[in-house]
Amino acid sequence: MNKKNYERPIITKQQSGFMNKFGASTLNLPKTEIDGVNVSDLANEYSSPLFVISEKKIRETQRNALRIFKTRYPKVQFAWSYKTNYLNAVCSVFHQEGSWAEVVSEFEYDRARKLGISGEHIFFNGPHKSDDSLTKAINDGAKIHIDHFDELYQIIELTNKLDKKANVAIRVNLDVGIYPKWDRFGFNYENGEAAQALKRISVTDKLNLIGLHMHIGTYMMSSEAYKIGVSKLVALANDLHQQNGTVLEYIDIGGGFPSNNTLKGQYLPAEQILPTLEQYADAITSSLFELKYPGNELPTLVLETGRALIDDAGSLISKVLATKRLSDGKRALIFDAGVNLLFTSFWYKHTISPAQQTGLYTENSKIFGPLCMNIDCLNENITLPTLKKNDLVVINRVGAYNMTQWMQFITLRPNVVMIMEDQSVELIREGEDLEYIMMKEKLPEKLKKL
Ligand SMILES: *Cc1c(COP(=O)(O)O)cnc(C)c1O
Repeated sequence: MNKKNYERPIITKQQSGFMNKFGASTLNLPKTEIDGVNVSDLANEYSSPLFVISEKKIRETQRNALRIFKTRYPKVQFAWSYKTNYLNAVCSVFHQEGSWAEVVSEFEYDRARKLGISGEHIFFNGPHKSDDSLTKAINDGAKIHIDHFDELYQIIELTNKLDKKANVAIRVNLDVGIYPKWDRFGFNYENGEAAQALKRISVTDKLNLIGLHMHIGTYMMSSEAYKIGVSKLVALANDLHQQNGTVLEYIDIGGGFPSNNTLKGQYLPAEQILPTLEQYADAITSSLFELKYPGNELPTLVLETGRALIDDAGSLISKVLATKRLSDGKRALIFDAGVNLLFTSFWYKHTISPAQQTGLYTENSKIFGPLCMNIDCLNENITLPTLKKNDLVVINRVGAYNMTQWMQFITLRPNVVMIMEDQSVELIREGEDLEYIMMKEKLPEKLKKL
């Protein structure tokens, strides 16, 4: 048996905003393994900080989501939101699970094509699509989601030039009772702009209108909002059918389901206050059944869910570089991972688990990263057991939006590994080095002499 560490006793000052000692326990139990692989072995082999992605968790989460929707509605298609995490290994797991691709730029479009996704299986969203990217998308038969009238005219021009038909849908923004409204993308429903755009498309012979799209926001905590949004899309689809006999291939309800991370303003943990995926699915599918298509025809329900499917599958291993006392006596911990790697720490209270056995004493701590910048604070106030230099921690639920929004700032981006279903470990993105970072720089001849 290992000898336990001695811990000196401490007196804890009560901090406002925290439950008292009789309230919910905020103690995070040690997490010594991820998917059965020892955390300190991972850090020894791949160094710290280290992003770890669980193949098993991605598959489990995706299968569960598909089951929940498929049991409620017969035709369901998921499309992986590339910007949420576009590492090739991550996208490929989703594609193996049957997901198509949802992209918002030419860069992401090219990534999906390079991974072997055919054009027909790509939903091309976003407010900026270059002529080049639209030409590719038209030629590949991709599903282009039009954002505004200028883009509509751009596509009409291109289809005429190429003498080719384009598969299009429009993105619709709508009032779903959540404020501020997300009205900067797509055509507005309430002021009639969406209906006008559809009319314009229906009289253009080179545009093949195949769907309607919405994406009402992100981390949407209300299932009712989806119910309202989908009813409005269904109303548009019913009008289209009545006027021109158009039967749409799909209704795409975007993404936006919250993950299990707790937001900074939330008092209770996310698990206790968020609707379940089943409730979202009930809200969405019950509205879809309001469609009045002939016979039993139904459009495919497309979901572009991002964060809810990947957040739990990602962890960040980090090492304690130092512990210190701030001027007010509060404990501060300096980690080797900061806001450069953890963009989501600006709005999430990420849970942090020690990666080794700890004592029972806990103390409210402020967590800093390694950057020489005052903003590099991962958490203002978190209850953690005593940690010392070189101890490891696991920052949980970091799979969404970090490995795409991480910054190359002050220091380098680290390794990313995937723990495969058979518990083998694969390096899926090598940590950057100086040579890689400087590869694209050019030093003018005159500046070479020192
Ligand atoms: C970002 C985005 C998504 C994914 O959103 P989540 O909130 O991560 O589910 C889906 N569709 C579009 C158009 C997006 O821009």
